[in-house]
Amino acid sequence: MRKMMGAAIATSFGRPLILSDVAIPSPGPGELLVKVAACGVCHTDLHAVDGDWPVKPKLPFIPGHEVVGHVAAVGQGVTQHREGDAIGVAWLHDACGACEYCGTGRETLCLGQHNTGYSIDGGYAEYMLAVADYAVKLPRGLDLLSAAPILCAGVTAYKGIKETDTKPGDWLAISGVGGLGHVAVQYAKAMGLHVLAIDVSDDKLALARRLGADMTLHAAVPDLAADVSRRTGGMHGALITAVSAPAFAQCLSLLRPGGTMSMVGLPPGSFALPIFEVVLKRLTVRGSIVGTRQDLAEALMFVAEGKVSAQVESRPLSEINGIFAELKAGRVRGRIVLQMH
Ligand code: NAD
Ligand code: ZN
Ligand code: ZN
Repeated sequence: MRKMMGAAIATSFGRPLILSDVAIPSPGPGELLVKVAACGVCHTDLHAVDGDWPVKPKLPFIPGHEVVGHVAAVGQGVTQHREGDAIGVAWLHDACGACEYCGTGRETLCLGQHNTGYSIDGGYAEYMLAVADYAVKLPRGLDLLSAAPILCAGVTAYKGIKETDTKPGDWLAISGVGGLGHVAVQYAKAMGLHVLAIDVSDDKLALARRLGADMTLHAAVPDLAADVSRRTGGMHGALITAVSAPAFAQCLSLLRPGGTMSMVGLPPGSFALPIFEVVLKRLTVRGSIVGTRQDLAEALMFVAEGKVSAQVESRPLSEINGIFAELKAGRVRGRIVLQMH
């Protein structure tokens, strides 16, 4: 095998990624070497490279956490995967496996976790390392390019909807119809919900309608909450994937009494919670972070069964800096996936 591989590397925050040849890593005990077939470009990668969040990745690093590929080599002691297996690598690179969160099915809360494309080099490269226990087997027959976004956008949207505690027949608002939001619309419909999609782009709203949204509204509509209340009685749940702090306050105002909003989007900043409204309406405001391996297996089955299908456009790694600019400007429809092998 060649000893070098192409990769896109973040070397300083807010600067373009550097395309360069680096050594192919070798898998240690319990690890896999993954030959990357494709890696989706999540808005989180942009936050990582811009250093947007309080906990920053250590420079230099290789972004990318929507990885699909094949096992190229296995490290010592690996028995659950074999060379050639189709696998996926997600944001949760690994977790400690022993803490109270890992022991109670909440591994994404583990304080000892590592994150792919953040604290561990990710999939904007021809090869990468994965931890065998946390790499997921892909269902047979899945198209790898369109499966890539499920490793983050799909599982995060699916888990975020579950966290709204809505049930079939309820109304769910989905704010932001980007990479996460466009699959969220499909998961919500498959889960029997009525969907109101909200975005700042008419193009994205048209996409939401094509994907099954029952109602779409531009975020700038005056008196949005009054309009939604008149037409539906208010939302039972809201999933916020918008990269915009004002969208959080807007979604709260759409909830009917007893409603829950699940916060997924991660724009830097904060928003004010109106105490009276939250208390009197008994609202729930909840964060939701990616999903566990089990959530991911479930999210992938929706795709294998043809109920959810990410809209992808494949592009070469060499275009990554232009892709980031498009994502920042809100011009990406669905998900852009880097095709590696
Ligand atoms: P994206 O850029 O593909 O989509 C964002 C969408 O929000 C776009 O369609 C944009 O037009 C829309 N938008 C912008 N302002 C809006 C507003 N005021 N109201 C409604 N819509 C608005 O991004 P993405 O890849 O879908 O990621 C979305 C966010 O979710 C990012 O902040 C990302 O870091 C975060 N994220 C969180 C998790 C998690 O586990 N919590 C996982 C993945 C991504
Ligand atoms: Zn743990
Ligand atoms: Zn992501």
